Amino acid sequence: MDTNEFRLLDMLSLIYEDMDIDAIEERFVSFVAEIFSFDRVALFFVKHRKGILQGKLCKGFEDGTISSIKIPIEEQYLFTRPLITGFPVWNTVSTEDPFVMQLGLTNFAVIPVVNRKRVSCWKIKNCHSTDCPAYGNKMLRCWLVPQTNCRDRKEITTLDKLKQCESCPVYSSQDTEDVEGILLVDNSWSDNPIDQKTVTLLSIVAHSIGIAINNAKAYSSVLRESIHDDLTGLHNRRYFNARLIDEVDRARRYGGNVSLLMIDIDHFKKVNDTHGHLTGDAVLEWISEVFRNGLRKTDLVARYGGEEFTILLLNTPKEKAVEIAESLRRAVAESSLPEDQNVRITISIGVAALGKEKSFESLIRNADQALYNAKSQGRDKVCVN
Ligand code: GH3
Ligand code: MG
Ligand code: MG
Repeated sequence: MDTNEFRLLDMLSLIYEDMDIDAIEERFVSFVAEIFSFDRVALFFVKHRKGILQGKLCKGFEDGTISSIKIPIEEQYLFTRPLITGFPVWNTVSTEDPFVMQLGLTNFAVIPVVNRKRVSCWKIKNCHSTDCPAYGNKMLRCWLVPQTNCRDRKEITTLDKLKQCESCPVYSSQDTEDVEGILLVDNSWSDNPIDQKTVTLLSIVAHSIGIAINNAKAYSSVLRESIHDDLTGLHNRRYFNARLIDEVDRARRYGGNVSLLMIDIDHFKKVNDTHGHLTGDAVLEWISEVFRNGLRKTDLVARYGGEEFTILLLNTPKEKAVEIAESLRRAVAESSLPEDQNVRITISIGVAALGKEKSFESLIRNADQALYNAKSQGRDKVCVN
């Protein structure tokens, strides 16, 4: 192994350690440019919903040139061909490809960054249309290629095709969020040859990077799910409690006002009983939206339990917290469920502020007690403790 091969392994281990997608991509492009001494390097990714390949980041190209490139996924274009064939494009002199011409490429390679574990459409559908371009092709993402219109084989626009594909089991069974794209390496200025060994090595590296990016993406989505509530998209109780402890700790050390609102929907059981649970769910989503719209970015709102919400107001004294609570109460009482004007509800709110003892337990206890008072005083009320 020569020094560069060691550096390559070093790069892979560094990239695998990272869970930040942007950081992985940036490191990858920089390392490839540096280790192989290419004149220019660029990374493109497939936008599944638009059915195109789009430039994302680069080294050596002028600012904005790569990110403005959008290419339909068709075999005729050298940049998208590897996504269909699975093979790198290399040693090709093209005077016709508009994107190759635009970038002034004469000595370059296009390496696929793909997930090779995908299942082919014809296998999933048990299709025997041997004249279809997707038939027998392991690489083709059928929804990305206009000529593979399964219904009548006529060409249709990418957008129409995507609409058609969205109802197809192949589309929904594959992970359309999968990251895939191409790596472009170029030596057109120096004219240093790009040899077979380099292309093979880059193909292996690009495949590993594809896996690393997909892992990082899966990790960040699991992380997101673990701190959010499915139905409302608000933060969940677990995240709220952790933040509350942190913020109380911060206030204890550096000072600052922290207020807490505990909110409970009034007679929510009756909403479910009268209009059904789906309407009940819609109410929870609507209320969440009212809270989101009525708060600042720095306020933390969470779904605390079934029909209970909590709001943490930072740098907010008790009097201001009561004003905010009152405006939220009014916003709910004066509106109705957007989908059904007959569904109207009210909320009760308990307000408390961090006292001298500065403990999060007493903050919650006080807000809880205030909420209990709001309920016993007839509901649709804000009480403070
Ligand atoms: P109160 O004014 O005293 O708060 O009365 P309430 O009916 O709101 O309170 P109660 O605790 O008796 O009922 C809460 C109801 O919230 C019961 C439960 O079925 C409903 N609920 C909890 N989580 C969900 C949910 O995710 N979706 C729906 N639709 N209902 C939920
Ligand atoms: Mg309740
Ligand atoms: Mg309730």
